[in-house]
Amino acid sequence: MATRRQTFRLYPNKEQEQKLFEARRLHAYLYNACIANRRFEWKANQKTVTYFDQQNCLPEFKEAWPEFAICNSQALQATVKRVDLAYNSFFQGLRGLPQFKSIRDYSGWTYPATSGWKVWGNGKHGRLTLNDLGINIRMRGQAREWGKPTTLTIVYKPNQNKWFASITVDVPILESKFGSQSQLEYEKIIAFDLGTETALTTFDGEKFEQIENPKFTKKSEEKIRKASKQLRRKRAPNKAQNIKASNRWKKARKRVSKLSTKVARTRKDWQHKVTSDIASRYDIGVTEKLETKKMTKKAKKGSKRKKQKAGLNKSILSVGFGTLNQMIAYKIEQKGGLMLILPTKKIKPSQRCPKCGKVHKDWAELSNRYHVCSKCKFEIQRDKGSVMVMYNVATDVQPGCGMRLEDCGCSSSTDSTKKRKQTGSMKQLGQKKRQSFKAKVDRVTQTPSANAAG
Ligand SMILES: [Zn+2]
Repeated sequence: MATRRQTFRLYPNKEQEQKLFEARRLHAYLYNACIANRRFEWKANQKTVTYFDQQNCLPEFKEAWPEFAICNSQALQATVKRVDLAYNSFFQGLRGLPQFKSIRDYSGWTYPATSGWKVWGNGKHGRLTLNDLGINIRMRGQAREWGKPTTLTIVYKPNQNKWFASITVDVPILESKFGSQSQLEYEKIIAFDLGTETALTTFDGEKFEQIENPKFTKKSEEKIRKASKQLRRKRAPNKAQNIKASNRWKKARKRVSKLSTKVARTRKDWQHKVTSDIASRYDIGVTEKLETKKMTKKAKKGSKRKKQKAGLNKSILSVGFGTLNQMIAYKIEQKGGLMLILPTKKIKPSQRCPKCGKVHKDWAELSNRYHVCSKCKFEIQRDKGSVMVMYNVATDVQPGCGMRLEDCGCSSSTDSTKKRKQTGSMKQLGQKKRQSFKAKVDRVTQTPSANAAG
């Protein structure tokens, strides 16, 4: 089973919308109360409040504040969990100290399990019932894949004044073609990488394919830039000076957000087209593990590379890094194929010569876009070279990289989803509470080189 997220637009009537707003207000209140509690305990007693401390207080909290009785208790727990996740990433240095959230911008709430709500329909339009609020809302949208709904997040976008239902569903994955006995078909392997100059570079053993960034982003970026400029010229709200936003400012902001969402939608559509095409033609996908965070980090203060880095960040972020990767991966897996994620640090695809295997440290420099090997004089464009190395590693013909895939820590993409263990999701907490320990699932060790070697 694999998990997919599908988003539908909700069309509540007036009465229903009032209830949604009320629930949103309560969840925002709870969120802020949890932050206040943590701050107070730390200031007064130097005590770190945990998720469980707060969760155990919920029944008492509900007694003191009877209006919370209308909310689903698992959804309330999920809101407490949101605070916990925010603090966790703060403690890990990934973000700043969690702040109080204004009710105006508060996004919504989550039903972390299957109870308390129900979807009526088969992935195309339909209705959504929320038991706690006692409402049945009209829902529109079409899911790319549909299965058993598992969690529901209600999202409100204040700028657009729209409600959405973000539903995760379990969809079946076809049994892998590559059982232990069957032989792999090497002619249907594709190595791909998300490049800096092009959105995607692929290599299938014979030919390279370079997919350009779609042109629409540049055009619409220009439009967004102009609209934002208009927005800046209008009277923005300022709480400190008690200035209210002008109607023109509100209108201009709406225009900006409308344009941005349109770009996001067009980009997503483009991504699905590109990735579906690749996934339909190949059975095995090979790519490297990407650390987008590091690559898109800001350049150091005073660094000469600041501008270059900013441009690069933009080109990385504008193709939706990570998602293209994941989309090809899940699409290949869904049709019964196999995804291999190579460990970047060990293989060093962008620094290794595809022909002789020599590792060139200076190739790591991102400005170095065309590589000439100092040992064998092989020359190749940076992005093409690295997909070629990955292809060679997967088919076990890469010189200077004789290790077997499982020895060098190669994982299939099904593993990497299991690695998200530190986050402490609602599901995992539930399991922890019930003290039920499932037997560890054997890791998938099926790799092409393992087959070739055995
Ligand atoms: Zn070489």
